[in-house]
Amino acid sequence: MYKLALIGYPLGHSISAVIQEEGLRNIGFEGKYDPIETTPEDLLDRIKYLKHNNYNGFNVTIPLKTIIPVFLNDIDEKADVVGCVNTVKITQDENLIGTNTDIYGFKTAIPKNINLKGKAAAILGTGGAARAAVAGLSELGVSQIDFYTRNIINTNKVLNFLREKFPQIKFNAFQIQNAKNLSNVSILVNATPIGMRGYMMDEMPISIQDLSTMSKDAVVYDIIYNPLKTLLMEHAEKLGLQTISGLDMLIYQAQKSIEIWTGKLPDANVMKIAALQAL
Ligand code: NAP
Repeated sequence: MYKLALIGYPLGHSISAVIQEEGLRNIGFEGKYDPIETTPEDLLDRIKYLKHNNYNGFNVTIPLKTIIPVFLNDIDEKADVVGCVNTVKITQDENLIGTNTDIYGFKTAIPKNINLKGKAAAILGTGGAARAAVAGLSELGVSQIDFYTRNIINTNKVLNFLREKFPQIKFNAFQIQNAKNLSNVSILVNATPIGMRGYMMDEMPISIQDLSTMSKDAVVYDIIYNPLKTLLMEHAEKLGLQTISGLDMLIYQAQKSIEIWTGKLPDANVMKIAALQAL
């Protein structure tokens, strides 16, 4: 029986338990995945609790992804390159090993026929998900990433970190509120929560005017998964642009986490069906 958990705060909207338990069933394991609300102040006690109550591992979400690395025995290269951990394995000798499966999730959700080699990307937001997107886009060969942020000053620290980790990519940062010309961009990624159910669901992170500057063969990838079709995606589709929903990223990162905990990769399709029923 696998004992797994999700820690973060708030967890009210999470459908991860449904997805993870379906994934475990699919590879023939019984398992329980407990969402346990955890604030940064609770983190140390929560980790001790998970270690001493026979948990095999856990996922980490907002606002703990960048805080948790210092509490772990080791992190792998994936987590190190983005400074963010979303999956922790607890070994038999109670060591905690962190990794990042959001990168795999982000990248795997992009259809294989989309070629981003040598192309430019734009990312809205500079948080944990944005950094996973950078690593995923780097693996797909993009040569330029333009960030749009509400706080250029704070973004400089992130930019310096990313320039060091991804020297082959040219990074720029712009104010998200200003008008944008996105005609050179092959993929636009929304990595802000703007458009998410329960948080500015009726809004778009950029204007329709900005969106209409994109080339007709460009892709809009909204990593929000609830609603399945955000206002941004709705308008992108009206303009004839290809869209990708965050649900596939959510499923693939969960699939990879299960592989890390159990050594077996479940079928992403059955996990997606369970997710669609839960949404
Ligand atoms: P995060 O670390 O808190 O980062 C959020 C980013 O959005 C920050 O750069 C923040 O700017 C910006 N932002 C927030 N509200 C904004 C606003 N009103 N105007 C402009 N910028 C704003 O969060 P995260 O972990 O990256 O998650 C971001 C989104 O991705 C969430 O909706 C989350 O549910 C989703 N997500 C999806 C998946 C998936 O598997 N599909 C995985 C991870 C995350 P500041 O830095 O200025 O605060």
